[in-house]
Amino acid sequence: MNERHPMDQLLREDRIPHIWCSGCGLGTCLAALISSIQESGIPLDKMCVVSGIGCTGRVAGYLKMDSFHTTHGRAIPFAAGLHLANPSLKIIVVSGDGDLIAIGGNHFIHAARRNLDMTVVCVNNFNYGMTGGQGGPTTPLGSRTTTTPYGNYEFPFSIPYLAAASGASYVARWTALDTRRLTKSLGEAIHKRGFSVVEIISPCPTLFNRLNKQGTGLDVLRSYQQNSVIQHGADPAKVAIEKDGKIIVGKFVDIERPTFLDLVKERLGDKFKIPWEKPDPVHVTVPSADE
Ligand code: SF4
Repeated sequence: MNERHPMDQLLREDRIPHIWCSGCGLGTCLAALISSIQESGIPLDKMCVVSGIGCTGRVAGYLKMDSFHTTHGRAIPFAAGLHLANPSLKIIVVSGDGDLIAIGGNHFIHAARRNLDMTVVCVNNFNYGMTGGQGGPTTPLGSRTTTTPYGNYEFPFSIPYLAAASGASYVARWTALDTRRLTKSLGEAIHKRGFSVVEIISPCPTLFNRLNKQGTGLDVLRSYQQNSVIQHGADPAKVAIEKDGKIIVGKFVDIERPTFLDLVKERLGDKFKIPWEKPDPVHVTVPSADE
């Protein structure tokens, strides 16, 4: 009875049982994230996880480390504030396609443009699961959701293309079936300087997969096995996901680019002061604009 699972160290037991449906891919995504955090070698007090709202947004609440469950679409700006207040922290944002790419879409592209030093993990199940399975920004054309009963008629975003075109330094995509590759990729993203994005394609058997007659969570994982193709270095413009089409997975982007703080320091030189590096932050002098 005293045996412990290796991941227990990072799970808040008082929050268990979790709210996720049977067959949902989120448990696997959380397990991969925990493994990558444990394998990263970064002390837990130097990391924190930020999430937004939605089924994926619950991840932050289940993690026994510094974690923040923020408002809808605001995980990235919250994380940006944490990063700028304390750049020594490694910050991981983990949230869903609706939260990050719809209401949070503007924050996503601007954080990528600035190359803010953080890792964004987007669990993409192509719909708004928590609020009833509505169509979202990544719902493939023709797919059924509760708001598109005759099939979606809006062009979706392709997350890797959006991330790469906006300036992300690292972009990868895996399915919830690829747990080992996913864990390795999350580890790379965590250690990458700059804005790194990992998209995880994940089953939502209760809503999206049921409405599209794709079977149970296990059936969806089988379809990932049959339909996903690894193409490292694939052009992000050519990895869009289409209804019932192949899913291109792999590492698409891994480039070096100055981060937001690199450019701030380059521009301001000695005028750039980091308050927390001073012995007494109360007496920090902020340079005036005309200095
Ligand atoms: S609604 Fe979908 S995404 Fe949300 S917990 Fe259930 S299966 Fe998972």
